[in-house]
Amino acid sequence: MSETKSCLADRAAHLRQTGRLPSARWCPSPNFGPRPAGSGISLLVVHNISLPPGQYGGPAIENFFCNRLNPDAHPYFKTLSGMQVSCHVLIRRDGHCVQFVSLLERAWHAGRSVFNGCPECNDYSIGIELEGTDQAPYTEAQYQALASLTSLIMVAWPAITSERLTGHSDIAPGRKTDPGPAFDWTYYRQCLSVRALANGFSDSGGVP
Ligand SMILES: [Zn+2]
Repeated sequence: MSETKSCLADRAAHLRQTGRLPSARWCPSPNFGPRPAGSGISLLVVHNISLPPGQYGGPAIENFFCNRLNPDAHPYFKTLSGMQVSCHVLIRRDGHCVQFVSLLERAWHAGRSVFNGCPECNDYSIGIELEGTDQAPYTEAQYQALASLTSLIMVAWPAITSERLTGHSDIAPGRKTDPGPAFDWTYYRQCLSVRALANGFSDSGGVP
């Protein structure tokens, strides 16, 4: 079923007001702060995470973003001890979404980063984590959930144009590698175009 343009616009208006995705499970992280005054929301950053790496399911990612990860539960977890990070939304392997930080707030996902010469991407971006690794193919359910989320976000914040969808590795080169070669940017953009056309929007960035 395609969504009507007005329905999408209503959902986007609600999102812009509340910062909360009704379709996501709310799992609040303490790791966020206010966006600096005057910084709009104009970038979407795609990441990956799995804890331990390459293992899916389980509570470790949520515990990590909520500062509850037990360092003794797995040798890898010790390397994360004391880190305070978050993202806005995690997309699980089955496409289910978990939201940690309001999209209106500044989540701590990008770290030291630059996009088009503009530093501190956390100030003006939305960070979405895909449960996965750099090498293993992401699931169809994840592409569909990401495309659905992205198309709604692009209507809510039209400054996020299709040129301003990026990967963590692109804004922190040499330091970060996610979402990795496994992430199919062409397919992601195809999924977005299909949704944009079905929703009655042009595929050039969510502008009618
Ligand atoms: Zn990342």
